[in-house]
Amino acid sequence: MSGTQTPLGLFGTEDLIGEDDRAIRDTVRAFTADRIRPHLADWFDSASIPARDLARELGKLGVLGMHLEGYGCAGTTATAYGLACMELEAADSGLRSLVSVQGSLAMFAIRRWGSEEQKQEWLPRMAAGEAIGCFGLTEPDFGSNPGDMRTYARRDAGGDWVLNGTKMWITNGSVADVAVVWAQTDDKIRGFVVPTDTPGFSAPEITKKLSLRASVTSELVLEDVRLPASAMLPEARGLSGPLSCLNEARYGIVFGALGAARDCLETAIAYSQERDIFGKPLASYQATQLKLADMSLELGKGMLLALHLGGLKDAGTLTSEQVSTGKLNNVREAIAIARECRTILGANGISLEYPVLRHANNLESVLTYEGTSEVHQLVIGQAVTGQSAFR
Ligand code: FAD
Repeated sequence: MSGTQTPLGLFGTEDLIGEDDRAIRDTVRAFTADRIRPHLADWFDSASIPARDLARELGKLGVLGMHLEGYGCAGTTATAYGLACMELEAADSGLRSLVSVQGSLAMFAIRRWGSEEQKQEWLPRMAAGEAIGCFGLTEPDFGSNPGDMRTYARRDAGGDWVLNGTKMWITNGSVADVAVVWAQTDDKIRGFVVPTDTPGFSAPEITKKLSLRASVTSELVLEDVRLPASAMLPEARGLSGPLSCLNEARYGIVFGALGAARDCLETAIAYSQERDIFGKPLASYQATQLKLADMSLELGKGMLLALHLGGLKDAGTLTSEQVSTGKLNNVREAIAIARECRTILGANGISLEYPVLRHANNLESVLTYEGTSEVHQLVIGQAVTGQSAFR
């Protein structure tokens, strides 16, 4: 980019980030530049990623469960974790999804709700990327309303659990070593730590996706999956268990979506300066500058919001309604930026030679998972009116 300031530079957000957090962010940015970006178009095109190798490299980088304490996790600030998500998603939402599901969903569930034995068994290996985790909440017929799920865990006479049901749209499913599966029981919804080599467990991959193609998405099929009594997460009882994990992952998305938006905007600014139309650069036309200015505003405002929420999370006061404001705003603005940037690139905008339509398509999934934008509107609506409009 040859402008005098970057869109975020305009807002001075760099000065709001501490030195240590910035150093972590820069390390992740360098990793994505060397190791990820050269391959993204191919991974997206072929809808395949070297998930195992990537997990190990991300483990070495220290980003898997990086904001968790102990058990091989780095225990960074929440802001550093957010900034790492931003850099990963500036490369591709699929990469950030791998890291979010591993750290914020599967590892967080075990760290927050698991037994000491479960933590010792899984967390160090998951932090190192030697074991991959997935998180099975959504079902074919229950997404925004997971409380109505049908997957059932019953106890047999010997005290074992037997799980039956189907989960849908599960990130990392087919490559996972361990699945955190949520199921109805006689005593509310409970979470189970399911090694994926348990008989009766299978995870067929979902194909023909037009979004998040550089990410593994799967169905989980549980047919009489028998687990010992110790497989249940002892501390989670009811829907608040899985919802607490979703809140963690949503927080990462508040930053992550801005990474995709930033990548699109930087691409569009550079393109508009190089592309001559009617004898002068596209960037010199007022119509282009109005678009770029408006997108810079939304990116900067989103970043201020993300850093503010990061500060609240580090202070331990962040509420789930506040996470909803960040997820709703930043994903909605990111997808709008990605689509507008696509127009600036004209026909080139639809090519995988440039990242913008890849990001825009990925953001369709990000808009839907971890609570759809409508669900977050309802959360905010309830917060400001005191009335629930969910049912
Ligand atoms: P539905 O719940 O059927 O919603 C359909 C529409 O109805 C949406 O527009 C929604 O906003 C709207 N709606 C819902 N409730 C209301 C209401 N009360 N009032 C008005 N409108 C409403 N799930 C996991 O458990 N683990 C994963 O790892 C995971 N990874 C995913 C990866 C990808 C690529 C995708 C696309 C999804 C993933 N999901 C995962 C599933 C995701 O969380 C769900 O898709 C999401 O919760 C929405 O559920 P649904 O698709 O069933 O949509």
